[in-house]
Amino acid sequence: MKTILTGDRPTGHLHLGHYVGSLKNRVELQNEDKYNMYVMIADAQALTDNFDNPKKVRENVLNVALDYLSVGIDPKKVNIFIQSEVSELTELTFYYMNLVTLSRLERNPTVKNEIKQKGFEKSIPVGFLTYPVSQTADITAFKANLIPVGNDQLPMIEQANEIVSSFNRIYNKEVLVKSEALLPKNELSQRLPGLDGKAKMSKSLGNCIYLCDNSEDVYKKVMSMYTDPDHIKVDDPGKVDGNVVFMYLDVFSNDELIKKYSDFNSLQEMKEKYTQGGLGDVVIKKVLYNILEEVLSPIREKRKYYEENIDKVKEILKEGTINARKVASNTLKEVKEAIGINYFE
Ligand code: ATP
Ligand code: MG
Repeated sequence: MKTILTGDRPTGHLHLGHYVGSLKNRVELQNEDKYNMYVMIADAQALTDNFDNPKKVRENVLNVALDYLSVGIDPKKVNIFIQSEVSELTELTFYYMNLVTLSRLERNPTVKNEIKQKGFEKSIPVGFLTYPVSQTADITAFKANLIPVGNDQLPMIEQANEIVSSFNRIYNKEVLVKSEALLPKNELSQRLPGLDGKAKMSKSLGNCIYLCDNSEDVYKKVMSMYTDPDHIKVDDPGKVDGNVVFMYLDVFSNDELIKKYSDFNSLQEMKEKYTQGGLGDVVIKKVLYNILEEVLSPIREKRKYYEENIDKVKEILKEGTINARKVASNTLKEVKEAIGINYFE
């Protein structure tokens, strides 16, 4: 049986980028019933750039758990666990640190970009720079083969596989397992842009539609989306490329939904009309709003149930964490054996 591991940082509520980039894949995989699945709430990793705001991290642990359960992650099939409660992961990180150089860490393009975004250029917390090493510990502790993620995570998996190779070679034992990313098929879903169309949708950038947003919030956010700045009058020809509304329609709609919520038979037909001129931004935004509501309504329903049964959610986290700890502890034992630092056995 193959093993799957993914996770999210509890730095805020989860958003549509998480949904199409990773959560949807997780639910589909869980329902295939042929994987061991672990989903981690990465609170320790979230502290690497939120060490001065632990309250935010702590509060969002439950929010992220609620988001998981509301999109349909099934705790009977998936172990949902809290990273900091599995201290074996920290220990593994310590041994892996020896297998990676500073310059290698500094070359990681995702981390480089995040350092800029967070204003860490002048002084980078060591914990932040080394979070790809801790991610390697997360992945390898469970001997995960498949990681369903957005494409910002590709450099992390590359780094993890390098550490795996080094470890197995240096300690001369095939203890650790290499993993591969499972990206969503649709390229836009691998990195859903934010409302402004600039960066990817990201909790830290405040450019998100959250899975827990109410209808009114979603409506306002869709109405504020970046379209084509030269499309001023309805009859002006409009650009589809770079137009966030059409990007989202590419990801979330199908012809059936387009027929249901517009006067067009297909997204293609709608795009052609917009390009010619004669189709207003408010009209296309209303179509998108209705389609997003179809995605979000059942998620909100489920969320309500778990919000009213928050003790159940805590119980789920506790059980998942106990299971995760058993597995991680086994791997740590094998790692120490391979290095030869298992003194009392
Ligand atoms: P933060 O700003 O705190 O880093 P984030 O919004 O980037 O938050 P993460 O918790 O870092 O979210 O990412 C969790 C998972 O969701 C990762 O697998 C990541 O690839 C995926 N993901 C995040 N944002 C997007 C997006 N806009 N499009 C597709 N996938 C995404
Ligand atoms: Mg991120």
